[in-house]
Amino acid sequence: MARIGELLAARPTLSFEFFPPKTDEAERALEKTVADLAELRPSFVSVTYGAGGSTRERTRDIVVRINRDHPFPAMAHLTCVGHTRADIAQLLDEYAESGVENILALGGDPPADGSDPGGDFAYASDLVEQVRAHPAGFSIGVAAHPELHPRSTSTDDDRRRLATKLEMADFGVTQFFFELDPYLRMVDELGQLGCDKPVLPGIMPVINVAGVQRMAGMNGTHIPPPLLERLVAVEDQPDEVAKIGVETATALGAALLAEDAPGLHIYAMNRSAAPREIHANLALG
Ligand code: FAD
Repeated sequence: MARIGELLAARPTLSFEFFPPKTDEAERALEKTVADLAELRPSFVSVTYGAGGSTRERTRDIVVRINRDHPFPAMAHLTCVGHTRADIAQLLDEYAESGVENILALGGDPPADGSDPGGDFAYASDLVEQVRAHPAGFSIGVAAHPELHPRSTSTDDDRRRLATKLEMADFGVTQFFFELDPYLRMVDELGQLGCDKPVLPGIMPVINVAGVQRMAGMNGTHIPPPLLERLVAVEDQPDEVAKIGVETATALGAALLAEDAPGLHIYAMNRSAAPREIHANLALG
């Protein structure tokens, strides 16, 4: 196994993000996807965590299984909203005992109904502190938002907080985005604040138009109007949508690598076809 902070020294990395499926059938499909993408020899993969702990066991079991069955590490996402320090301590112990070495420490979103989630943490940086203090010596990633986090009050505040959080961690991974400039600007602004920790760009090959619009709306990701128009024009033709998704992700990936991005983190949406095509188009590996 390997610590991602160290893997990033041999750039560029290639990584895939999965989410824990809800049914046994979908879980078998994910196993097949992981096996398909394992052929591309990724640097690592990661598995999301339902804010508030809704996927606590499923995320843990998938991360532990991938770590056990594959030569690349699986990183566990962990959100702090609604959790106590004791909850987190127990999960970290379980991960450490199972040989998991990488944690993506996240804020998570508060409940949509506005209710108080409780718990001991206000921000992801509080979670980073606890993960850092664990004797296992986890490699720690944190989230970055090139186009700003929707709860951010100002660009300056957000970038300063991100720089502070990154300094406590080992690397960042961004929210998905479709335009190169906001990512380059963020890296530049972090550099001006004296922060040069690697921040992996997150790339989302679109496979569902309504889905990407919903997620982009939640994250504050700008979908360029010409791209949106092309997607909407074919939204009831999944193959055409996927074709545009791969074409767009390939172009963005090539531009990012040309700008010396530390790697590409692909939001695989539990499917292997688009990531495999992007890998082939970019002649990676
Ligand atoms: P934080 O770093 O806590 O930041 C949230 C907001 O608070 C920002 O606006 C920041 O500027 C502000 N802030 C930070 N510190 C302070 C402070 N001290 N004082 C005032 N304001 C402050 N969500 C999930 O539920 N599960 C997942 O698995 C998951 N995976 C993700 C993976 C990636 C790569 C990314 C980019 C996001 C992921 N998310 C996930 C979404 C994430 O949890 C949400 O975007 C969440 O709202 C913010 O998380 P954060 O870690 O950026 O939080």
